[in-house]
Amino acid sequence: MKTIIVSRSNGSSYSCSETNTQTLLKEPHRHPGVFVARGKEDMLVTKNLTPGESVYGEKRISVESSAANTGAVNGEAAPATKTEYRVWNPFRSKLAAGILGGLDEIFVRPGAKVLYLGAASGTSVSHVADVVGPTGTVFAVEFSHRSGRDLINMATHRTNVIPIIEDARHPLRYRMLVSMVDVIFADVAQPDQARIVGINAHLFLKVGGGVVVSIKANCIDSTAAPEAVFAREVTKLREERIKPLEQLTLEPFERGKPYQWLVWPT
Ligand code: SAM
Repeated sequence: MKTIIVSRSNGSSYSCSETNTQTLLKEPHRHPGVFVARGKEDMLVTKNLTPGESVYGEKRISVESSAANTGAVNGEAAPATKTEYRVWNPFRSKLAAGILGGLDEIFVRPGAKVLYLGAASGTSVSHVADVVGPTGTVFAVEFSHRSGRDLINMATHRTNVIPIIEDARHPLRYRMLVSMVDVIFADVAQPDQARIVGINAHLFLKVGGGVVVSIKANCIDSTAAPEAVFAREVTKLREERIKPLEQLTLEPFERGKPYQWLVWPT
């Protein structure tokens, strides 16, 4: 049993400049389904499931495979094809920050089924949906009706996202909508998050599945030192039979406040 812990800090200097698609090189990241756009600045990107559309105003990058690369059929050059990617900003997504910070395992990969607790308006969820692709599914749970409206709107364009406007403390209310999943991603920022993760894992997580938990120390106990809060949360997760795999801070993308863990149960 292993854990990844990531701490995150606040920042604003990450820029997603307009990219010259002619000079851009795109290559796979070591996490399947995640890519790196190499240009003047390297950027983390996901393959846009809905080409032509942004979700929250993020930059899109179109990469053309030249006819020469796509081969010839019956002596005729195949037409050039275009693939669109969306820039994944680590200042807006803890998972992107964790990937750039060097997470070894995220469990989110093409074809995976993901239970995402604390989906908010769906900005990070939309990238997770890009990563799992058309053969994967993201069950996105959010209890705020206000954020849920944006989440539902995003899901109307991404059919691999199932929006669930419910309290993650009561998974029995949505058990009819959720299948067994490969990974639970939790970012509810609640004092009882460990318990919330535990009850959802016991109901929905496949044997050998992964759990990725973002811990925001000051949301759990603002009076204690973050390291102490962190250690207590690890103990609580262990009591839920979820053991640490890896841990990582999210510097420089967030400073001081949250911590993010990647854990998996045995
Ligand atoms: N993961 C999101 C992202 O990266 O875009 C940000 C999530 S935000 C830190 C936490 C979200 O969890 C909020 O939208 C909040 O409404 C939601 N939340 C908190 N407690 C919840 C609960 N018990 N059930 C469902 N959603 C909850």
